[in-house]
Amino acid sequence: MSPLVDLLARLVALPTVSADSNLACVDLLADRLDAAGARITRHFSENGAKANLLARFGPDEPGGLMLAGHTDVVPTAGQRWSTDPFRLAETRSPSGEPALRGRGACDMKGFIAGAVIAAEALRATDLARPLTLCFTHDEEVGGVGARRLMDELSHAGVPLPETALVGEPTALKIVRWHKGHLQLRVRLRGVGGHSSRPREGVNAIKHAGRVLAYFERLERALASRRSFEGVFRDYPHPVLNVGLISGGAAINMIAEQCEIALGYRLMPEEEPAAFVREVRAFLDAEILPAMRREHPGAGVELIAGNCAPAMATPAGTPLEAAIRASTGDADAEAADFTTEGACYSRAGIVSLVCGPGSIEQAHQPDEHITRDQLERGLRLIDGVIRRLCARPDRAAG
Ligand SMILES: [Zn+2]
Repeated sequence: MSPLVDLLARLVALPTVSADSNLACVDLLADRLDAAGARITRHFSENGAKANLLARFGPDEPGGLMLAGHTDVVPTAGQRWSTDPFRLAETRSPSGEPALRGRGACDMKGFIAGAVIAAEALRATDLARPLTLCFTHDEEVGGVGARRLMDELSHAGVPLPETALVGEPTALKIVRWHKGHLQLRVRLRGVGGHSSRPREGVNAIKHAGRVLAYFERLERALASRRSFEGVFRDYPHPVLNVGLISGGAAINMIAEQCEIALGYRLMPEEEPAAFVREVRAFLDAEILPAMRREHPGAGVELIAGNCAPAMATPAGTPLEAAIRASTGDADAEAADFTTEGACYSRAGIVSLVCGPGSIEQAHQPDEHITRDQLERGLRLIDGVIRRLCARPDRAAG
């Protein structure tokens, strides 16, 4: 087994589902990188159950390259897997290529393993500029770990890297733009009672139905708010998804409450507050008065939650040139999903997304990465380090 596959197997064996601790994974990575000569810092979450990990190589100064990945994976509950998702297994891709199956193999422990193996191959004297490996917690639940880390570092005045390669699975295509993701909740508060006496209550589920109909109309309207055409190929417009609904207590009771949760994928340069205002205006004009007519105690609330920002990185950055030189790829693409790259960009770190594996595999049952992508990912990382961090006399080859 190659060192790369061996490390990937060890990482997959640690079930770092976002809801659970990632400390065993952070310890494994920290031990390896410490042994390779890195300066290690752990940045713990509030309750100490999780940590972001930074490992720095080379000169102790600002600038240089950051290789960024998230340690957490999405749950496997409710999915049908052919083998234990937390045991790396040999498999074949649908096109028959040799591949490795396991939760996180593609999103994104394959990249993390490549970053560690590449760093282990370095000698401190090889580096003219700093190399930082940054592995976060809680990416899959709204980029929480990366945001925390950037807040912490900027408050502490820690000098930041100049540029970041975020290794989310893009099949090694360069992603310069991606959408953001705003989480919203609509909470309807009705008035409960016995279902035999409907005039004495306000059914929150009934009013929620009108809110859902509004979101359906809005979803259609969004398809015509086009921007970045030719950049975002399939969906050059914001996208809305009602993902969760809960409400009521019993079949023979007037539903006292109902909550709808939705995600809004915003375009680069779009202001999330504008969408919040639009939804709030509808609720205030259409839903609230109707509920209050039935009972003055009823109401509706709009709660704006986490917002993962969109990303738009200018063309022609040194990182882009270094990736191109390593992969031979010409075009930059846009992604419909969000990444930590937007958070790093906001902190002033010029970020691009490019990593091994297909996004179509991410979050799926029987998630896999082809051996070819895994190995090409390592070569990309190697090449980018050499081009952006190495001493000129070591940069060749
Ligand atoms: Zn990911």
